[in-house]
Amino acid sequence: MGENAILVINCGSSSVKFSLIQPETGLALLSGLAECLLTEQAKIKIKLNNEQYKETLPSPFDHQAALTVLVKHLHQFNLVNSISAVGHRVVHGGEKYAEPALISEDVESAIESLAKLAPLHNPANLIGIKACQKAFSDLSQVAIFDTAFHQTMPAKAFLYGLPYELYKEHGVRRYGFHGTSHYFVAKQAAQQLNKPLSQCNLISAHLGNGCSVTAIKNGESVDTSLGMTPVEGLMMGTRSGDVDAGIIFHLVEQLGYSVNDVDQLLNKKSGLLGVSQLSNDCRTLEEAMLNGDTQAELALTVFCYRIAKYIASFSASLTELDGLIFTGGIGENSSWVRAKVVEQLALLNFHLSEEENQKARFGKSGNIAASNSRNCWVIATNEEWVIAEQTHNLLSSTQPIKTEV
Ligand code: ADP
Repeated sequence: MGENAILVINCGSSSVKFSLIQPETGLALLSGLAECLLTEQAKIKIKLNNEQYKETLPSPFDHQAALTVLVKHLHQFNLVNSISAVGHRVVHGGEKYAEPALISEDVESAIESLAKLAPLHNPANLIGIKACQKAFSDLSQVAIFDTAFHQTMPAKAFLYGLPYELYKEHGVRRYGFHGTSHYFVAKQAAQQLNKPLSQCNLISAHLGNGCSVTAIKNGESVDTSLGMTPVEGLMMGTRSGDVDAGIIFHLVEQLGYSVNDVDQLLNKKSGLLGVSQLSNDCRTLEEAMLNGDTQAELALTVFCYRIAKYIASFSASLTELDGLIFTGGIGENSSWVRAKVVEQLALLNFHLSEEENQKARFGKSGNIAASNSRNCWVIATNEEWVIAEQTHNLLSSTQPIKTEV
């Protein structure tokens, strides 16, 4: 059993995802999810050695209750002593964090003040941090920011065409998200290319419930489709992606929407769900399309066209291109979406092998490019591994890792 594992925590407003990862190999010793928190249906599922343990959570059904049950199981499974530190996914690090940070009072205050840029996410991440400080008081905690990888974007990519003081005084700029995922798959592609990441030029498409495309030049993010908030860019499960900002005035002035209505519309009722009028779930829509649902087909077609358009637009950010990467639940599994996207990228010399594209699903990664094409990989993302690795690396460089007690 590893004595140097990192407990990775991804805390949302009503859920906590956790896994215990060996940082050198990415092996998950244990993983699980607490969900429906703050309701009486709160429950926890823990997976260990292919067995699943389920339990309802006691009152007050909160994040702390979930972590208390997790700690109980970690003791039962004899895993507590193998945890050397806790790594937290934190959504918004603003301009302050281009690197992981050892959590201190100052870092907590910074995460709190950045909540104005990520009001749904940063407060939830802080709840997780505080709950872990109680549950694992002797362990160091590290924050890994979803925005950090994109801090290399130049001003021409991160500025909006808005008055400059909004950026200078209020931080209104593009930050991007999914950074750990884009970084992980880029590193994997570098291995495929057999050269250092710092010499790789890539475009990665992370397609899950949230979606983004990133241009990576010499191993660094130089542009990405998500902006100051997770609404910009691609069409997503329930988010609209780019819309004409003038539509908001139309909704408010002509159609009587409140600010909250607009927020709900753009974040929760749009995207695949809004266009299909059926579901936000790609798999459900593909099934419906195969059964003749033309609205589902329309939603998927708009979705794919926008992905292709973003990928093609990033040719303006790069001078060379080693290949394209698909990742995330849709990118890793939907051969239909990949085929539809790549079909529209012939001008960039992308063509798929139909056979390889069909094979690369359900955890099977690979290069799905035809022989006359640039590289096109399907790579399963592993954000937890990046969080474990970066937590481990930060602590190894600043202090000795806790040894067995
Ligand atoms: P999250 O962003 O919440 O982590 P995921 O990365 O798990 O989400 O992606 C969820 C999306 O992946 C859903 O739209 C789901 O339908 C889609 N997906 C998962 N498996 C398949 C599949 N076999 N075919 C098509 N889409 C799939």
